[in-house]
Amino acid sequence: MSDCLFCKIVAGGIPAKRLYEDELCLAFADISPQAPVHVLVIPKEHVASMAHTTAEHAGLLGHLAAAAARIALEQGLEKGYRIVINTGEDGGQTVDHLHLHVLGGRPMGWPPG
Ligand code: C5P
Repeated sequence: MSDCLFCKIVAGGIPAKRLYEDELCLAFADISPQAPVHVLVIPKEHVASMAHTTAEHAGLLGHLAAAAARIALEQGLEKGYRIVINTGEDGGQTVDHLHLHVLGGRPMGWPPG
């Protein structure tokens, strides 16, 4: 999608601190971190949100989750972390390209706001 912010980051048109990349996904540091570690894991393919996924995305979703877990360990989050996927307006999603937030480095509260 040519007007998608995260597609532009994938393509290198917008700078980001890239932490991990493979054929299916890219991980980069969130520009406005909400925790000492805040990484976004996104598919390189444009998928607008979790609400836009189907059974055909099961493999991709598993790949993203496994990448997020590996990145959390690489970032030193042995004490734990939180993976968040904001979805749609009520879910607080502000960028319409599927992304997993990996948050850690401090205790997380519950329930989330
Ligand atoms: O879940 P949500 O859609 O709100 O998350 C979008 C995230 O993308 C925000 O945490 C925001 O800080 C991040 N962002 C970024 N780099 C940009 C624009 C937004 O890391 N250039």
